[in-house]
Amino acid sequence: MTTVGILGGGQLARMMILAGAPLGLRFQLLDPSAESCAGQLAPLQVGAFDDRAALARFVEGVDVVTFDFENVPADSTQWLLDHAPVFPGPQALAVAQDRLSEKTLFRELGIPVPDFAAVSDRAGLDEALARIGTPCILKTRRLGYDGKGQFRIKSPADADAAWEALGAQAGTVGLIVEAFVPFQREVSVVAVRGRDGEFRAWPLTENWHVDGVLSASLAPARVDAALQATASAYAQRLAERLDYVGVFALELFCRDGELLANEMAPRVHNSGHWTIEGAETSQFENHLRAVLGLPLGETTMRGHACMLNWLGEMPDATAFLSVPGGHWHDYGKTSRAGRKVGHATLRADTEVALAQALSRAGQVLGRLGQVAPVVARLEEG
Ligand code: ATP
Ligand code: MG
Ligand code: MG
Repeated sequence: MTTVGILGGGQLARMMILAGAPLGLRFQLLDPSAESCAGQLAPLQVGAFDDRAALARFVEGVDVVTFDFENVPADSTQWLLDHAPVFPGPQALAVAQDRLSEKTLFRELGIPVPDFAAVSDRAGLDEALARIGTPCILKTRRLGYDGKGQFRIKSPADADAAWEALGAQAGTVGLIVEAFVPFQREVSVVAVRGRDGEFRAWPLTENWHVDGVLSASLAPARVDAALQATASAYAQRLAERLDYVGVFALELFCRDGELLANEMAPRVHNSGHWTIEGAETSQFENHLRAVLGLPLGETTMRGHACMLNWLGEMPDATAFLSVPGGHWHDYGKTSRAGRKVGHATLRADTEVALAQALSRAGQVLGRLGQVAPVVARLEEG
């Protein structure tokens, strides 16, 4: 009996558990919250990620440790390494936890990035604005997610307001200024690398965000094969440099046919949820195969897929389930404004059929606005 320990007990852990059940895997979770939704499906240790006693209870009987939450303190992952293999490893995690180190690495690897500068004090912000220009975005280097910890600077006159909002974090999590990219599309490549170095990527996914949070994903993205190949090559370069093991996502902006890297997520990713029904092997199953040293599954698609995120509260499942190719995922969470509570995936054999199913889903759920950009993309010539 193999037991996988997961640091974090949110929906990503929950979907890993669902993917691991047919493989005969057991799971053990650690999360600061007793209400964690993955805890409905597997034993949960409640404790902070830096609490050694909690970590010791968590790792007992665990064969391999992985994450659904990437901001686990580096000390904790180092400590865990004395008790079980940890994948992805602490080095990869450390790079991905810090926007400055990840962008520096992207640049070093020849992966284009928006211009950026570290900011450590108020004068440094002015220097960064002078060098990078406006519009730009001031972001916390660490701990940001779903667009939190960011301030958009439209002109130098916004510098005071930006400092007011985030300056207090300059000495703690650190700050970075990034040039604002007037992109036409946002895409991500979700990829997996095994313990033996085998690398596979799923087809490129196009993503739509609302208020900094993912709203919809379409796969395969409607881009030419060369762009797809470039994105996949960037992901492979990154994975090899980091000696990465497991699934990760590389978020990219597409501007005038060129790709610029935004960030990487060292874990299964929201833009890869469509792989559960839309690919031969899901990101969750392949992540488990990778961290356990098992052969990786095929990442080929089954037709066309679109994922829609449900934020705040779940829409009406019954209405949705009549939509052809529709698949429902309720994470078992209580409703809260902005919280990711579930998602749906629509899968179809053709783009025409997918657009029809999406329009139908938009109608029955009263969410035409959410499906509209995806339908428009599918209907482009
Ligand atoms: P995630 O939940 O994906 O981890 P995050 O909080 O780490 O999000 P980012 O991915 O950096 O934040 O930014 C969130 C969104 O804000 C991006 O997907 C993009 O839509 C927009 N954005 C971020 N940086 C830039 C930029 N430099 N230029 C233009 N838009 C940007
Ligand atoms: Mg992020
Ligand atoms: Mg992001």
